[in-house]
Amino acid sequence: MQKIGIFGGTFDPIHYGHIELARCMRDQLQLDEVRLIPTGLPPHREMPPVSPQQRFDWVKAAIVGETGLMADDREVRRNGYCYTIDTLIELQQDTPDALLVWLIGADSWLNLNRWHRWRELLDMGHLLIAARPDYAFEGLSPDLSEEFARRCVIANTDTLSRGKISLLSSPLMPVSSTLVREMLARGEDVSALTPVWRQLESSGLYRF
Ligand code: ATP
Repeated sequence: MQKIGIFGGTFDPIHYGHIELARCMRDQLQLDEVRLIPTGLPPHREMPPVSPQQRFDWVKAAIVGETGLMADDREVRRNGYCYTIDTLIELQQDTPDALLVWLIGADSWLNLNRWHRWRELLDMGHLLIAARPDYAFEGLSPDLSEEFARRCVIANTDTLSRGKISLLSSPLMPVSSTLVREMLARGEDVSALTPVWRQLESSGLYRF
C-alpha cells in the first residue's frame, strides 16, 4: 500500500525543524513521499503578512534535492479558510488506496480539539506527533488524553494504520518560524536556521 506523509503548516517561513521532521517521518516509516502543504488562509491564526504563494515558493526552494519531499500548493490555491479535514479528504479522494500519515508538532497536538471536525480527522489517517521544546504532554485536555490512550501505538512500518496515533521519534529542535522572523527583523544571521536564508534576506519581507 502506498504511504503518503502529510505535513501542513503556515511555514512563515520554513526552517530546518520542519525539514528534519519531514525527513524523520519519511525515513523511519518508509513513506513513499512526504508532502509539505503550506496553508492558505489559516483558521487558527491571523493571516501572515507574507503571501501564501511566497511561503509556498520558499518551501519548494528549501526542499530541492530532498528525495521524496514535495511541496503541495492545494491549500494556497484554495479560496477561503483551509481546514485540514478538507485537505485530507481531498488527498484520499485523489489516492483512494493510499494510507495518509499526517504529522503535527506537540504545540499543535495540545490544541487539536479546537480544530474543525477533529475527531473525524483522527479517523482519516495515522497521526504522528513530534515532540517540541517547551510543550509537555501534561497539560493535555481529557478528551485528547482519552483519544490518545485509545488510539496510540508505537510507530513502525507494521503498525501504521488509519485511526492510530504515534509519537514520532525525532530530535528536540529549538527552532520556530517566530524565532526566524524575530531574528530577521533585528537584521541577524539566520543561515543556521533555514536553507532559504538568502531569499528571506533579499526579500526584505520580515524586516519591519
Ligand atoms: P510559528 O513560530 O510562526 O508558530 P512554527 O515554527 O510553529 O511557526 P508552523 O509552520 O506553524 O511553524 O508549524 C507547522 C507544524 O510543524 C506544526 O504542527 C508545528 O507544531 C510543527 N513544528 C514546527 N517547528 C517544530 C519544531 N521545532 N519541533 C516540532 N514541531 C515543530
